Amino acid sequence: MAETQPYGDRRRTPHIVLVPSAGMGHLTPFLRLASQLSARDCRVSLLTTHPTVSAAEARHIDAFFAAFPDIRPLDLHLPLLDPSELDCTDPFFLRFESIRRSAHLLPRVLADASPPVSAAIVDIAAASSYLPAVADMGIPGYVLFTSSAAMLALCAYLPTYLATKSTFGVGDIDIPGAGRVPKSSLPVLLRDPNQLFAKQFLENGQALPKADGILVNTFHALEPEALAALNEGKVTPDLPPVLAIGPILPAMSGEGESVSAPLAWLDQQPDRSVVYVSFGSRTAMPAEQIRELGIGLERSGLRFLWVVKSKVVDRAEVEVGLEELLGEEYLTKIKDRGMVVKDWVEQVEILRHRAVGCFVSHCGWNSVTEAALYGVRMLAWPMGGDQRVNAAVVARGGLGIWVEGWSWQAEKEPVKGEEISERLRDLMAAEGLTASAATMGAAAADVGGTSYQVLTHFIERLSL
Ligand code: UDP
Repeated sequence: MAETQPYGDRRRTPHIVLVPSAGMGHLTPFLRLASQLSARDCRVSLLTTHPTVSAAEARHIDAFFAAFPDIRPLDLHLPLLDPSELDCTDPFFLRFESIRRSAHLLPRVLADASPPVSAAIVDIAAASSYLPAVADMGIPGYVLFTSSAAMLALCAYLPTYLATKSTFGVGDIDIPGAGRVPKSSLPVLLRDPNQLFAKQFLENGQALPKADGILVNTFHALEPEALAALNEGKVTPDLPPVLAIGPILPAMSGEGESVSAPLAWLDQQPDRSVVYVSFGSRTAMPAEQIRELGIGLERSGLRFLWVVKSKVVDRAEVEVGLEELLGEEYLTKIKDRGMVVKDWVEQVEILRHRAVGCFVSHCGWNSVTEAALYGVRMLAWPMGGDQRVNAAVVARGGLGIWVEGWSWQAEKEPVKGEEISERLRDLMAAEGLTASAATMGAAAADVGGTSYQVLTHFIERLSL
């Protein structure tokens, strides 16, 4: 039975089930959206697929349910998958595949959810199998696209693009209304049709028209052209409405455990003086590049807070200490103006800290939206996947600079420390960029702005 609001109109409180896939980059926007929907009087259930790939995911999920007791957990235990069948070693893409192949388990989980489900929001990585499963149950199905609208345009257009070619092989892609994605900016794994990631990406793109709507964690001021092209049917005519609801605000309770030393250290630094360096939750940099980056930071003469990551999955591999990676001599030399950590940090708290002056980032989309939210200018250094497409958004939006020639996925020689230090000094001196990043920050943080209104309409529609 539909429930009624206290003020007695005929609206019901919608019960929305959120279905993330694997990895912090996918989990984070789902946790944020769950807390936003709950704060706006929706009933929310969040599905967890077990086991998680990283310890960070497990920790954040536990902390989240403890902080938001009104949000109900749903659990789905994944069947085992034999990775040797799939010719893929990336633990996250393998987990996407297990999740995609578990769609037959979803109806049981959703049928048990109470009250009856008004809508399911599924992760783009599981769209091709989860949208049909949800539709078969008569439940409206939405996709949350966890990257940029530019990347969504690529995902939506790729099936059309490939249909014009006799063999699967990609070059530069001109997306109608949304601009060109040069071949060099495409995720490397898209170049080979036999790669698991390429198959997943294509099938999920083909499934987009089956959704009742596509929510995307971006905002109008950052990506006006791509959003217009998607919604005007230029990219592909059969897409459902694309709803820009970002940046989805961080959950208020804090988002999991982290070390507090970096924040205490930032408290001691002058305003906007610190270069914050982090490449996200799953990008491991080769040891040689780590050393060059260390040299660059040291030679720049700037203050810096650097999160070093040398392995892909936090729980799986042998830990290498900072001393071993960088040398004791280096750590002693930089200790008066640099802080280097290997732990999980509370990135959102760092980016909103008054002492942070710029962000050297791989351009994972959550990192970009967080920098935008706090108006922090960026040095975009994409490392793989969707990150070059996102870096182009950063540069176009006046949020930062992108040195396009720098290597990614270790395809070339490491970028030398001297060059890194020069670019950092340029960025810290670029007053124009400070102003444009601040303008973008004001648009991103506009409470009651376009993204807020779009989410309001989404909730209202489910309440009828
Ligand atoms: N993150 C964090 N602390 C860390 C590393 C990452 O809080 O030490 C968060 C970061 O703020 C972002 C997410 O983890 O919300 C990473 O997602 P993103 O899309 O930026 O990159 P990915 O990790 O997926 O490559």
